Amino acid sequence: MSEHKQIVVVGGGITGLSTAYYLQKEIQENQLPYQVHLLEASDRLGGMIHTEQRDGFTIERGPDSLLARKQSAFRLIEEVGLQDNVVPVSTGKSYVLSKNKLHAIPQGAFMGIPTQVRPFIFSSLFSPIGKLRAAGDFVKKSSDPQEDQSLGGFFRHRLGDEVVENLIEPLLSGIYSGDIDQLSLMATFPNFYKLEQEHGSVVKGLQKVVPKRKKTEKRPPVFKTLNTGLGSLVDAVAAKLERGTVRMNTAVDHIEKKGEMYHLLLNNGEVVKADSIVITSPHYKAQRMLTQYDFMKPLQEMPATSVANVALAFDQTAIEQDINGSGFVVSRTSDYRITACTWTHKKWPHTTPEGKALMRAYVGKPNDQEIVEKSDEEIIDIVMQDLNKIMNISTRPQFAVITRWHNSRAQYTVGHKQRMEHITESMKQALPGVYLAGASYNGLGVPDCIDQGEEAVQKVLGYLG
Ligand code: FAD
Repeated sequence: MSEHKQIVVVGGGITGLSTAYYLQKEIQENQLPYQVHLLEASDRLGGMIHTEQRDGFTIERGPDSLLARKQSAFRLIEEVGLQDNVVPVSTGKSYVLSKNKLHAIPQGAFMGIPTQVRPFIFSSLFSPIGKLRAAGDFVKKSSDPQEDQSLGGFFRHRLGDEVVENLIEPLLSGIYSGDIDQLSLMATFPNFYKLEQEHGSVVKGLQKVVPKRKKTEKRPPVFKTLNTGLGSLVDAVAAKLERGTVRMNTAVDHIEKKGEMYHLLLNNGEVVKADSIVITSPHYKAQRMLTQYDFMKPLQEMPATSVANVALAFDQTAIEQDINGSGFVVSRTSDYRITACTWTHKKWPHTTPEGKALMRAYVGKPNDQEIVEKSDEEIIDIVMQDLNKIMNISTRPQFAVITRWHNSRAQYTVGHKQRMEHITESMKQALPGVYLAGASYNGLGVPDCIDQGEEAVQKVLGYLG
């Protein structure tokens, strides 16, 4: 038997890949007697990151944007030598579709929360009463301290229903693909709560922390991406892993503690032994691997929504009423089934050949999950009907790429943080050396997942000593 301690990473999405990469880096740099294995259930790496190249288009079936202010993704990109491929988002203008009209998101809005009074007052998105109600944030006292509350409830109380429904909800539920009246404030945006508690007003608090810029000063890009597609990050990280690290088509079905070691039962009946494990698969899969532990039950009960990403390629001439901007989100009160649309050819020009246009729409509101199961043709019809209401697109797309992400969007509902703390604490006792990391647990953006991978590396190294 090998003298080396065995570390198994379950799942080869960006969390698992970054975990395996940073583990091997530490092992090499510090000459540690450990060996890393990555087990991936499917026949491809990357999980939700999936780039498709077709007819000169670069199509992201999953994420397309990296939040520029979060550094971990760019650190990883540099580690694997892709830094020259990073490109900034090319247009900052985005809209909200409300009452059949596109309204520019007021300047200075941070995640939908106004930080500048003037653009907000002149915005066509809200009625005078809605604006007056939002001003209540300046005079309302901070609420009594609470362990958690819903994201929607918090903002309804501070800024009123209209601002929530026309701006905050479409933006935030675009990120979480969920119902903001169910989502946890503390698991998603705890800083807003902190600002309210410290400054007595979210807007005043944001005004203090969001950097002020002169009118002439150029705003740094909020998002960046790789001009080779985010899939190239997956390929580059995978290429850096030592040969033999990754096993594809290998699902972990069950994990059993045997003395100091763990036995992982694979879908082919094989047993793999490990000293430490990082589970990066979705929560409901992690729970199934450890059904014998009651403290994992909350993961079984944790909801997850499905979305479909609909990429549509056109000749530029087919778009009769083109719009200057990167795209729009749809307000809850609008009679549309798409939840958002990116004008990818404008937002990321490198994705689209000259003379062409690439749209990327989403379907799958929390209360419209059945649409994800419709046929490709039906989904294309629905999306085209919606787009035609605002853009006059004269023809069917040249081609469409539809990607259904089933149960992909873990819902951090109220109390999520406390539930995760309880699970983490119980695992420390009952399953020392086993860790959870990834989109289901502590942040679902790509950089959040990489952060969790990096944290898991430190936990594993600390445990193995
Ligand atoms: P996953 O990518 O889900 O990887 C988990 C892996 O585990 C999978 O490969 C799976 O096959 C494997 N697995 C599952 N069960 C087992 C098992 N039993 N044994 C072994 N392996 C198993 N984020 C952004 O930052 N910016 C965006 O623009 C953005 N847009 C998005 C758009 C869409 C349509 C989607 C779906 C997500 C988007 N996200 C975005 C979120 C982000 O892409 C994901 O949260 C992130 O990629 C998740 O990475 P992960 O490794 O934690 O999980």
